[in-house]
Amino acid sequence: MPTKKVNILAIGAHPGDIELGCAGALEKYIALRNVGIEVNIRFLIMTCEPDKHCSAITITERAEKSADLFGAKLLSFGGLKKGKLWNAKHIADVIGDAMDETDPSIVFTHSGHDRFEDHRSVYKATMSAQTSFLVDAVYCYESPAAVAFCPNHYIKFNSLIMKLKALACHAQILESFFVGTFLQVSPELIQLKARVRAKEACRFLGRYAEAFELS
Ligand SMILES: [Zn+2]
Repeated sequence: MPTKKVNILAIGAHPGDIELGCAGALEKYIALRNVGIEVNIRFLIMTCEPDKHCSAITITERAEKSADLFGAKLLSFGGLKKGKLWNAKHIADVIGDAMDETDPSIVFTHSGHDRFEDHRSVYKATMSAQTSFLVDAVYCYESPAAVAFCPNHYIKFNSLIMKLKALACHAQILESFFVGTFLQVSPELIQLKARVRAKEACRFLGRYAEAFELS
């Protein structure tokens, strides 16, 4: 009897992106483990560039801590520079190598509808790389910098505990980067967004939801 298995690759340009965009959805997939389905998750974060608040080692440790919450393996960071991913010719190769290792049936990545060039670059590279693999679905998630984001798929969930816990691993870097800007995130804002998305997905009964552009 064949083993039921789901391989998931979650890609983020920066630490915290995956958790902001699809932590609730990942939690839903994790629950499949309770019904005997093997769920393998890999996180690929393209940059762990240190700043004045966090060393690269600290950023990596926190990313690993978050990945552990999902029973996920953190693949080597792309080692690219924050804000410069648009300039990195090998970004699609990094993602392709991660797909080669993961053999994903499901991929989570950035939406192309985003103000950050890094996010758009990761989206483009993902879409380019995935054509060489048998990926069933690419879920493109929104970020606080989303613009003209037009979701056609929602994944519901009933608790924000896991998402907030995962984001807390990145609190220092998220705060240093976003505080005082329109991109600032807080548990209250995350809850509000998840409630709004659940409301949009009114055919679902879930309390919260994340929205995706499904390719
Ligand atoms: Zn980002």
